[in-house]
Amino acid sequence: MIDDLIMNICLLITFIFFWHQLFTTRRLTYESPLWVKFSDGFLAGVLGIILMRYSIYVNDITILDLRHVPIALVAYYGGLIPSLVGAVIITIGRYIIDVNFSSHVALFMMLFIAIGSGFISNYVKAIPWKKWLILLIYGQAMFSIALYIVTPDYSQVLNIAILHIIFTLVGGMLAFYFLRYVRRNSELFLKYREFSRKDPLTDLFNVRTFYYYYENFLKQAKENNQSMVLMLLDIDHFKKINDTYGHMSGDEVLKQLGDLFKHEAGRDAIISRNGGEEFSILYLDKSVKKAEKVAENIRKRVEHTIFKLPHGHSIQLTISIGMAFYDRAMTEDHILFHEADEALYRAKNAGRNNIEIFDQVN
Ligand code: GH3
Ligand code: MG
Ligand code: MG
Repeated sequence: MIDDLIMNICLLITFIFFWHQLFTTRRLTYESPLWVKFSDGFLAGVLGIILMRYSIYVNDITILDLRHVPIALVAYYGGLIPSLVGAVIITIGRYIIDVNFSSHVALFMMLFIAIGSGFISNYVKAIPWKKWLILLIYGQAMFSIALYIVTPDYSQVLNIAILHIIFTLVGGMLAFYFLRYVRRNSELFLKYREFSRKDPLTDLFNVRTFYYYYENFLKQAKENNQSMVLMLLDIDHFKKINDTYGHMSGDEVLKQLGDLFKHEAGRDAIISRNGGEEFSILYLDKSVKKAEKVAENIRKRVEHTIFKLPHGHSIQLTISIGMAFYDRAMTEDHILFHEADEALYRAKNAGRNNIEIFDQVN
């Protein structure tokens, strides 16, 4: 008997682990899209059915287990919808096990647990552990009442009933601790991964990510005989903007320029802020013609954009672009980055607001 309840706790924890792996980037919250709420509700129901596989038989028709815990969990994180979906699945599972007086009572018990848990989760304002305890006690109370209704002589099952309450509290607390732990770890991991990849000002990739893709694309281009494009983009006379309007306005220009690049460069572009007012765009397997067209579009678009600054000022500016291409004809001693940098240098010397391509400046 105790073995089955211990089995219930082990299953809860194991299932929660794999469940979380499936939804690491789509963790259930009140704001989750409907399909996530339905999927999580469905999985809570499946877990409930698995838990019922290891129920304690109080008598021929009545079984006890921790099926109410997954319902409380999805109610805690996602509210009424997932808890109702889970309850429906569990009820179907209960009827598959048996159709009798106990399973009819279990139907109402699950509905009460799902609806009540949804409301507690939504309306009770308390610290996480307290709220979770309230949810557990409520679910257990419904379960205990159901047990009372279906047992002719309650005093005979008192021991089992008490044991069930203890296991709900212990298993429920362990499950909640474990789930909070894995959720917090994933949240932190995803946040820090984002921090390490992105430039916080423009939300473009940072120079570390740039080098990651630069090396990676070169390797792929060499292995698969593909072409590769590198553009270096540098704002013309940016120092003047800073000197005239202040550093904050300069930052605002960088942000708006980042958005413009994202808009113009296309989905296959790896756009980074390599530092200061220098940006880069990488493409794998793009024709020279298409890349040139993108560069020209960006140059023109920047030239004609009016950048709005704080304090009501607005300015216009230009950028210079240096481009270099990798193709299979290239020998090992070509270093793409230096070629693009050289082209950029020449674009600046040629009067700025210019695009230079390395091949043509050789
Ligand atoms: P050029 O046309 O030759 O590129 O001239 P420039 O003024 O753009 O180039 P220079 O390298 O002389 O100056 C770059 C300036 O960019 C210097 C610095 O004040 C500014 N800068 C670098 N990083 C940031 C930043 O994060 N925010 C702001 N607002 N300015 C920055
Ligand atoms: Mg500059
Ligand atoms: Mg510069």
